[in-house]
Amino acid sequence: MLGEFEDESSSSGGELTPTRKNNSHPQNAQQNPSILSSLRSVLIVLSTALICFAAARNSITWHCQRFWGASGDFWQAQWDKFLDTVGEDPFYLWVYGTFILSFGVYWLFGGIYTFMDMTNKPAAIRRYKIQPGTNEPVDNRKLLKVIWYVLLNQVVVGIPSSMLMYWAMKWRGYPALRELPTFHWVLYELAVHILTEEAAFYYSHRFLHSRYLYKYIHKQHHEWTAPIAVTAIYCNPIEHIFSNLLPPFLGVFIMGSHVATAWLWFTLAILSTLNAHSGYHLPFFPSPEAHDFHHLKFNNCFGVLGVLDRLHGTDTSFRQTRAYVRHIMMLSFIPPREAFPEPNTCKHKLGKR
Ligand SMILES: [Zn+2]
Ligand SMILES: [Zn+2]
Repeated sequence: MLGEFEDESSSSGGELTPTRKNNSHPQNAQQNPSILSSLRSVLIVLSTALICFAAARNSITWHCQRFWGASGDFWQAQWDKFLDTVGEDPFYLWVYGTFILSFGVYWLFGGIYTFMDMTNKPAAIRRYKIQPGTNEPVDNRKLLKVIWYVLLNQVVVGIPSSMLMYWAMKWRGYPALRELPTFHWVLYELAVHILTEEAAFYYSHRFLHSRYLYKYIHKQHHEWTAPIAVTAIYCNPIEHIFSNLLPPFLGVFIMGSHVATAWLWFTLAILSTLNAHSGYHLPFFPSPEAHDFHHLKFNNCFGVLGVLDRLHGTDTSFRQTRAYVRHIMMLSFIPPREAFPEPNTCKHKLGKR
């Protein structure tokens, strides 16, 4: 229930800046980690990850190379066939190819989530709801409004933006279309894409939460305090350009990515944002708890990975909730709310007995 997350910040809406809100409460101010301690935590995590990666690197790359060596020719052959069929006009590939791919991925997977939201089926999936009781079933009028704005953003904003993307890439330079990049290079580029998006999305999103931008632009996206998958790009067109399209594109531009790598990255980014807004914390899926909490409380969890939220202390309220305890990838079929129940619920049950 919404009430389970209620705390001192719940009544004040989303128009205050997050930092001001967090510090306004003496207890929160005390628990706010200093930038130095946050930086230390981030450095410890990053260096541990780096050491583990360095230790495992040789065997990982050996296995990957073996896999790629066997399948690399396969993908190159498929790519050749694809180009033979659709042609090699870079404008068509960057603009219409990107549009068709992102439109298809969004509505195919968003459609599956929407089917679950509209029909409440399969019944077992209800147990994985992050905010049970919300959108069961979803309000059709609200859903139609979402679909209308999403289509507007995808077609009217998305296609001209793709044209700008093509001209930017043409100016910057990109690799020959025929030859796919190596497996290692794709992995390396994806890492850059993910980190660049994290920074660009975090800061643009936090900026959108400043008083005036929130009121005139970002409020639309926050109409949904319990989001569903297809609300991922339900927002003002200006927000769509600066917060949804530009952050994933920046890394592509910096690296001068191959169009196929860009498509792979855009697909992953779309799947990630659909999952983050879905309202379901499913097993073996990355946890959507943080962004769901952002929609519920407005003033915490602005990023994608959570690294910058940790660094800037914009996850302090979140870290005091059970949602934070559940903020892991579930590796079993036990629903997160049953594996980590609300402490109040337990007391209530005990009291009843
Ligand atoms: Zn959102
Ligand atoms: Zn927001």
